[in-house]
Amino acid sequence: MTHIITSLCLRDAGCVDVCPVECIVPGVPQDKYPWFYIDPVTCIDCGACVPECPFTAIFPEDDVPAAYTAKGGEWISLPTISGHYEGPNHHGVKVVLETARQLAPGEQVDLTADIKPNYDFFLPGGPGYGANDTDEGKAALHK
Ligand code: SF4
Ligand code: SF4
Repeated sequence: MTHIITSLCLRDAGCVDVCPVECIVPGVPQDKYPWFYIDPVTCIDCGACVPECPFTAIFPEDDVPAAYTAKGGEWISLPTISGHYEGPNHHGVKVVLETARQLAPGEQVDLTADIKPNYDFFLPGGPGYGANDTDEGKAALHK
């Protein structure tokens, strides 16, 4: 199994440094891959990343909710959405997304649709770990 980052991710980057196997990578290009992504082959399911996420975007794969019920006001970010979000990340640097919208109280979202992109990101031909070495990836990691 693996852990999965879902579309509740707002690129806070707080999860990256706690991963003992360094398998969390920023999505690049951001408009196509708006979250951070977990390499499902390398993830050891330790769970260390889960409490680091201020947006509770990370779940064990088997626990990704098919009917996530919104408290209201939380953001979802998908390549198919147009909407402006900005806020500070884990390092105090502003994150700007144009792929986000706020959820309404009680709105239900199937977050299991976010599982496949985590796998696809690391397939041959996908961005994979090479994203760490791009200018956009470095900016997201603030290195
Ligand atoms: S801590 Fe949460 S919001 Fe930040 S990059 Fe990780 S999953 Fe995304
Ligand atoms: S569960 Fe552990 S190994 Fe997997 S991404 Fe999170 S911190 Fe890394």
